[in-house]
Amino acid sequence: MERKEKPNYLWSLLTLKCPRCRRGAMFSAKNAWNLKTTLKMPEKCEECAQPFELEVGFWYGTGYVSYGLTVAMSIASLVAWWVLIGLSAHDNRFFVWMAINSAVLLALQPWIMRLSRVIYLYFFIQYDPDYKNTPVRTFD
Ligand SMILES: [Zn+2]
Repeated sequence: MERKEKPNYLWSLLTLKCPRCRRGAMFSAKNAWNLKTTLKMPEKCEECAQPFELEVGFWYGTGYVSYGLTVAMSIASLVAWWVLIGLSAHDNRFFVWMAINSAVLLALQPWIMRLSRVIYLYFFIQYDPDYKNTPVRTFD
């Protein structure tokens, strides 16, 4: 059996790689901001043949993930704003933050949608170091 280095969990997740082999790409097009192909995925991983949509309607659950991501990013940016720029009831700094935060979240939406699918699939599929010799896992 050939030995391969185990790709880092967080790095594989952020670079949208398959959870099972952490090598195959989960999305067909590299550019997430081409909205026609943002959510276009191969049926299975090119590297290890892991199917991505585990059952019909599997991706509906990603709505909760993207909601959680959006809230977490808003809190993080509000804290950063508070520390770096400050907040006061006597001026409109809070509203400036709100406008910037909304614009950034909107611009990041295609990436957030992709990342949500990846995080969701990572809940169900674990890394398999011997993925070339073991059968893929699904719900059945
Ligand atoms: Zn794979």
